[in-house]
Amino acid sequence: MCVPLGVIKREEADPTWGPGTIERNTRMALKITAECINCGACEAECPNQAITAGADIYVIDAAKCTECKGHADSPSCAAVCPVDCCKK
Ligand code: SF4
Ligand code: SF4
Repeated sequence: MCVPLGVIKREEADPTWGPGTIERNTRMALKITAECINCGACEAECPNQAITAGADIYVIDAAKCTECKGHADSPSCAAVCPVDCCKK
């Protein structure tokens, strides 16, 4: 199936979804909030190497974050964060 730019097949976003397409930007990356204490625990857990140490706090590259779909039942970074600052 040929799909326009900015649109992806639903089954590519998540194999459990039915056929069709979704806008690429409907997948929401997680964000790290200012409460981050720079412990680094989340960085090692990310299956997509989307998390890196930023200038002040750790940051998530929205282009790489898949919300851990296909890897875990819930976002791995949020699961290990001791201060609950990885948010949808
Ligand atoms: S939700 Fe998963 S893919 Fe996204 S930044 Fe966190 S660990 Fe990485
Ligand atoms: S696990 Fe939480 S507190 Fe630790 S670096 Fe990641 S976002 Fe910051």
